[in-house]
Amino acid sequence: MLPHFIGGRWTSSSATEFVPVHNPARGEVIARTPLAPKSEVDAAVQAAAAAFPEWCDTPPVARAQTMFKFKQLLEDHFEEIARIVTTEHGKTLDESRGSLRRGIECVEVACGAPSMLMGYGLENVGRNIDCSVMRQPIGVCAAISPFNFPAMVPLWFLPFAIVSGNTFILKPSEQVPLSQKRMFELLERCDLPPGVVNLVHGGKAVVEAICDHPGIRAVSFVGSTPIARLVYQRATHAGKRVQALGGAKNFIVVMPDADFEKSMPVITESFYGCAGERCLAGSVLLPVGDAHKTTREMLIEAAKSLKVGDGLDDNVTMGPVISAKHRERVLGFVEQGGKEGAKLALDGRPLKVDDRPNGFFLGPTVFDEVSPSMVIGTEEIFGPVAGLHRVKTLDDAIAVMDAHPNANATSIFTTSGKAAREFAHKATASMVGVNIGVAAPMSYFPFGGARDSFFGDLKVHGRDAFQFYTDGKVTISRWF
Ligand code: NAD
Repeated sequence: MLPHFIGGRWTSSSATEFVPVHNPARGEVIARTPLAPKSEVDAAVQAAAAAFPEWCDTPPVARAQTMFKFKQLLEDHFEEIARIVTTEHGKTLDESRGSLRRGIECVEVACGAPSMLMGYGLENVGRNIDCSVMRQPIGVCAAISPFNFPAMVPLWFLPFAIVSGNTFILKPSEQVPLSQKRMFELLERCDLPPGVVNLVHGGKAVVEAICDHPGIRAVSFVGSTPIARLVYQRATHAGKRVQALGGAKNFIVVMPDADFEKSMPVITESFYGCAGERCLAGSVLLPVGDAHKTTREMLIEAAKSLKVGDGLDDNVTMGPVISAKHRERVLGFVEQGGKEGAKLALDGRPLKVDDRPNGFFLGPTVFDEVSPSMVIGTEEIFGPVAGLHRVKTLDDAIAVMDAHPNANATSIFTTSGKAAREFAHKATASMVGVNIGVAAPMSYFPFGGARDSFFGDLKVHGRDAFQFYTDGKVTISRWF
């Protein structure tokens, strides 16, 4: 059973219920996550609250030094953590490395805290009266993460929260807790006072306790839209600052003038990278006019050439999905797509991986003639299933996106600057790619969607993170 890390010590949970953690490529149980009771959240809040006064008065330069140490430890253990990510999640080793690199970049941005936390001021706002703004930490902060990026998503929060002077509680996804166990072992070696970082395992009860606990000032959430909405409503109701990132249905537009040779590999990666389990994954391809035939043929060819298997194997380019249950869910969408009249152009269901007969595999699948009124045209599938919906004009493509409640990421493939500009200007999604398949902002830019893909104001990482984790205190002074 996995231990919590509370107040600088590894402690056992008193949980009586557990979630099995699988290696999705083998279908084997490799650990058990305790579903902790609410009282264990309280213990973490007390430890974090006790550590706060001393930590918030620690100079930002000294707090940043702990992040330099953490960054070095993550580099030293890079391959080991990437292997843990692949083992508990299933994505390929290269994908795990890429996501860990993105996470480390967040730690690097956090190292710049002394500059990023600076306030501003003005002399003589009235005669002999000065005014200044100082950014101050807010207290105990908590984050709740999803299964699809076991190492990276927690790093969207933890480094920024603590380097800003807050203390922190993480609840990782119960499906992938092992990367975080290892990261907290590394954090133990970063000279952080006990209680600055805490790890609590669990599910719904722990999330609800985090939302409700009066000792927690801010909550960050990443997961599906229904739970993001729920967490946003519940935690803001309890008076907290909240950023809740939800699910996605990402539209990828291909114009007839696109450079198909260069674009299609990128588009294929967008749909099938991480077996489609990315909030930035392409979901529906919108070829405009004549782009349809070439796009369809090239996507099918590229999808067929993917090598599905255990992500730890070198030549594998697509791993399994997270669980048997999730595989069933994705299969349900494939069944439904057929019933609703979409044309199955490539069926990934018969795929077998001979040396991993118990893995949760599903081959790349392509549907043509998907319409926005179909379930597969609307719901987030979160698996290796691409849908094509041919549209006549760029305006029609934008209208399809506009009609969808999610607005996380979108991309256009074109050689026309005019089309690209118009698309970027009108897109409802907040993360836009121009000839980029996975429009993931780097750690020094804000990350997050709009509409039902994001509930809150300040987004994740970049300058927004420092704003989210601090309060701007204004002091107006006159000396007699
Ligand atoms: P999920 O919503 O099922 O779970 C996310 C977290 O919420 C987990 O820690 C889980 O324990 C908790 N949770 C689950 N059910 C709950 C409930 N009923 N009450 C309270 N807490 C609950 O999401 P997931 O399946 O782990 O992750 C996949 C989803 O996350 C996808 O929808 C994906 O698009 C989204 N996601 C979004 C982003 C983004 O940046 N917007 C990034 C990564 C993942």
